[in-house]
Amino acid sequence: MKTKEEIQKLREEIIDVSLSLLESGLIVRTWGNISAKIDDKHYLITPSGIRYEDLKPDMLPLVSIEDGSYEGEYKPSSEFMVHTAIYKTRNDAEFIVHTHQVYATCVGALGKKRLKAEHKEKKIIFPVADYALPGTKALADNVKSAAAKNSETRSIIMANHGAVCFGHNAEEAVKEAIKLEKAAKKYIFNICKTDASNEILEGFSSKLEEGKIVYLRNDTPERVKLIHQTIYAKRPDVHCIFHNKSEAVMTISRRVNHMRPLLDDFAQIIGTSVRIPTAEGAPLVVKKKINTVFAYNDGAYCLGDTEEDAKSAAIVLDKGCIAHLAVTRFGEGRFISLKDCFKMNRNYRKNYSVLAKSVK
Ligand SMILES: [Zn+2]
Repeated sequence: MKTKEEIQKLREEIIDVSLSLLESGLIVRTWGNISAKIDDKHYLITPSGIRYEDLKPDMLPLVSIEDGSYEGEYKPSSEFMVHTAIYKTRNDAEFIVHTHQVYATCVGALGKKRLKAEHKEKKIIFPVADYALPGTKALADNVKSAAAKNSETRSIIMANHGAVCFGHNAEEAVKEAIKLEKAAKKYIFNICKTDASNEILEGFSSKLEEGKIVYLRNDTPERVKLIHQTIYAKRPDVHCIFHNKSEAVMTISRRVNHMRPLLDDFAQIIGTSVRIPTAEGAPLVVKKKINTVFAYNDGAYCLGDTEEDAKSAAIVLDKGCIAHLAVTRFGEGRFISLKDCFKMNRNYRKNYSVLAKSVK
């Protein structure tokens, strides 16, 4: 049994870990979640939809491993069933981090059952749990089965979604996530021949202020201003545009004509299908509910209601582009079904708008 002081320390530690994962880029915005077991029957977890920067120790709900009920003012993260499944299956799990880390997530889109790697001259296998929609019991069951079958590994890739890594304490869990990311990056670079770095490279962004377009750079060319004007005219729900010219996005913008979601967050935040113009001067494709507009050989304009939304779209798009290039060069991949994409996109919009309203 942990004492009150120890539990309080654990609450603080979860927040410290979330901030350090945020800093290292293994988690972004409110995506991902972290938990710690406090006894055989309970664990603490980060709440749903609250930014890590705003978290206070007493905001973490306490979840029952047995029946999933919780105590506390805030709702547990939507992926709490995955955590419960691991605590039920693995005695060596006392601290869990669920991330959407870039390269492990991209490996999880290749349709592979496992990632074989070497760490300190030892062979290591990272299993890929079968796909199921986020936040569902089916997903928790798939992770549970992968955790049960692979007792020697403490990192599980979740197909088309992210990773879940654990250990006896925070330090071990974070080390697992870093180890997995290194192995996955090596695989994406060496086997999939995709060495685009994960980044957002801002080109010419803009925002609407009292109905007027404000360009964030004085040197925005007229050609680009026209693109912004076209987007705002066709999408009254958009108030900010982030122009991403990262290496992966640029490559897609000159070589690909259509992107279907390979990753859950792409389906949620960018949309269910993105068309890309294939020649200089070809018309832009601006569609409802698709938060990215590619311009030929000019990267992508990522759309949002706020600056943060537009930037989030840019981050998610970059990862989606790396996954797309990796799958193309690997020659195999698992795309998410259109039906699942629509479901996720609808759910995300519904929940996000509720959340945005409650925050305001
Ligand atoms: Zn997730």
